[in-house]
Parts: sequence; C-alpha cells; structure tokens
Amino acid sequence: MFSPDWIVVGAGFTGATLAERIGSALQQRVLVIDRRDHAGGNAFDYPGPYDILVHKYGPHIFHTNSKKIWDYLSRFTEWRPYFHHVLAHVDGRYTPIPFNLNTLNDLFPLGMAATITSSLVETYGYGKKVPILQMRDAQNEQLRFLADYVYRKVFENYTMKQWNLRPEQLDSSVSARVPIHISRDDRYFQDTYQAMPARGYTDLFKRMLTHENIRVSTSTDYDSIDGLYPNARVIFTGPIDEYFRYEDGALPYRSIRFRMFEQETAYAQPVGTVNYPNEFDFTRITEFKHLTGQTAPGTVCVEEYSEAYVPGKNEPYYPIPTEDTASALRPYQERARELRGKVWFAGRLGDYAYYNMDQATGRALALFEKELSVLR
Ligand SMILES: Cc1cc2nc3c(=O)[nH]c(=O)nc-3n(C[C@H](O)[C@H](O)[C@H](O)COP(=O)(O)OP(=O)(O)OC[C@H]3O[C@@H](n4cnc5c(N)ncnc54)[C@H](O)[C@@H]3O)c2cc1C
Repeated sequence: MFSPDWIVVGAGFTGATLAERIGSALQQRVLVIDRRDHAGGNAFDYPGPYDILVHKYGPHIFHTNSKKIWDYLSRFTEWRPYFHHVLAHVDGRYTPIPFNLNTLNDLFPLGMAATITSSLVETYGYGKKVPILQMRDAQNEQLRFLADYVYRKVFENYTMKQWNLRPEQLDSSVSARVPIHISRDDRYFQDTYQAMPARGYTDLFKRMLTHENIRVSTSTDYDSIDGLYPNARVIFTGPIDEYFRYEDGALPYRSIRFRMFEQETAYAQPVGTVNYPNEFDFTRITEFKHLTGQTAPGTVCVEEYSEAYVPGKNEPYYPIPTEDTASALRPYQERARELRGKVWFAGRLGDYAYYNMDQATGRALALFEKELSVLR
C-alpha cells in the first residue's frame, strides 16, 4: 500500500514541480491528484487532427528570463526554439503587436510615423516598453494621440471581451502586459529563454512525475480523498475559495470557451496567433503548427471566447486582478496562514495570481526551498 507523506492537489506546473521536489529531493512519498482525467493542468496537450499537438486549454508558449527555472525544467524536456509572433486585425490590416515601431510604419503615413518615432525615442528611449495607460498622460500631444489610438484600436475592446472590464478597472500589472514597444523587435515576448517543449507539455509532465516516490491519480477530486490520509501534509493548487467552501464569499474568475477547427490547407494564417480586438465575439485565433513546427497537409486552429466563470459549468482559468478582488482574497490568505505547517496553497488558483507557467514553477521552487525542504 502506498502511504503518502504528502498530497498534492492539482497536477499543473505548480503541483508537478512541488511533487517532483518532494519526491526526489526530500525522498518523501507524494500522492498527486487531479480532478481532470490527465496531468498537466492548463498546459495539457495531445495529438489532434493530422497528428498535430494541440493544447486543450488554449495556446501555451513557454518564456522566461530566469535561468534557474529554465535549467530546472530542462531536466525534463528538450526544447524547440520558438519566437511567438502575433498580428492584430486593425483598420482592415494585419499588423504586428505588441504595438511597436513596425506597427507604426504599417498603419500611419510614413512622415507621420517618422515624427512619432522620433518623439517616442526622445521621450522614453529606444528599446523601452511603455504601458499604454501611462503614455496617455504624456506631455507630448503626438504621444497622447498615439496612446489614444492604440488604446481604442488594440486595447479597449480586447480588454472588454477578455475581462468584461474596462482597462482602468484592472490591476496595472495586467495593462503593463500590453505595452507600446519602442523597438523594431516584432516578437511577442522578449524573454531570454523562449521555446516549446520538443515533445510537448504532457511529455514534460510525465517525466517530472515519473519517480518511485510519486503516484498520480487523475479523475480524483480532493473531496473524494479528504480525510483518507490524516497524517499527510497537503499542497492545494486548486481555487483557494473552493477549499474553504466559499465561507468568505466566492472569488470571481474568467473562463474561456475554446472552439477547435481544422482546415485542409498547409497554413491558415501567417503567424501563431492573430488577435481580433474589434471584430467577432472571439478574442484570438491560434494555429498550433506554428508553435510545434510540425508539417502536415492540413492544420488545426483554436478560437477563444472569454466568458464568465460559472461553477460546475466551465473552468476558472483566470483570477481577475483588481483592487476589489485583492480585498476579497485577504480573508482567505489569513485562513491559509493559520493552516501552514499542515496545508499550503500555491499556484494560479491557490494564490489567486495571474501567473505564467514560469512564474508558477518559480513560485513552487521558492516555496519548496524556503518552507518545505526544511521539514522532516
Ligand atoms: C488560455 C490560456 C493561455 C495561457 N497561455 C500561457 C502562455 O502562453 N504562457 C505561459 O507561460 N502561461 C500561459 N497561461 C498560464 C498557465 O496556464 C498557468 O501559468 C499554469 O497553468 C499555472 O499552473 P498551475 O499548476 O498553478 O495551475 P493549473 O494549470 O490550473 O493546474 C491546477 C490543477 O488543479 C486541478 N484542481 C483544482 N481543484 C482541484 C480539486 N479540488 N481536486 C483535484 N484537482 C483540482 C485542476 O484540474 C488543474 O489541473 C495560459 C493560461 C490560459 C488559461
């Protein structure tokens, strides 16, 4: 009988990293459970039509500036170098985003683009990234015009579709994710390390979780095993409000409906993702072949429709970072502190934080090093 020292709830990046560290570095037994019928969390991928690797819960592109996180994950995968490119459909053209100097040349008359470029470089410096909401307060009239244009054409409606909130209502960390980039670098991310796991995320997770001290049980909800292992410590990476039975109120999340479709053409679009800020109900279309580098006679794409999270109906994908949700989270953080030593919360849903995959991994590594590795 496998008698675990630890229960890790959730087999995404957070849960898998903690299970791997506890199993191999602490040499303690871990039972990882996930209510879904697979490991991998939101990064789960599988071979779809034409054998193209598709991401069930939306496109996931790995990027990080942290050598530590890169080195850690590189123990479990080889990588395929990949720079993500995104176009937005603006004023009838497909133009590169984040908005940069190439976008400026693409959308404005040449003379005007040149003058605005000079103002941008003089005011902020070449290579800088400036949040749109910040540029809207610029002294220079042309820069205010540009910020206003980008706000209206690229940012405002996309944000409304994605979050059902106005950009000003969201935490500034969200709007900072969509800056104006004073550069000709068209890549969507500028991180030092950008790549896709060569055999996909599911393979990476399999390698992380294959260890004599680790057992994985999918299609297993925490409720169904709660109390079975009274001496085991618990790491919970599901929604923190759900753990506490919503006693301080339900936290809001954003969900997404994915519509996957295939086409009998080599490529459906020129880059990995095309955003549609102003047209249609979906926010963006991603074509997986660009991400995986596979060749096939046909192709597979996914459209994303943001929607409200309704428990039992869809999945809580995004915590919603606003001042109100930060206050609503506090009582739960207080409850979590009281349980420490027995139960820990981490991850996008456990911390209620808008983490990327590298941040989820980094948070898990830091929790392990600071608090868990000293436990015996
Ligand atoms: C559409 C979309 C696109 C994204 N694109 C990117 C990207 O390009 N690059 C990037 O770096 N990041 C991206 N992310 C973010 C990325 O998905 C997260 O950073 C990552 O999944 C966080 O890992 P996690 O382990 O904290 O959470 P998750 O991956 O959400 O894993 C939590 C797991 O816990 C399970 N669980 C919850 N409650 C219970 C319970 N009670 N019992 C049992 N199991 C439970 C869930 O089923 C889930 O599998 C994207 C996210 C979304 C939604």
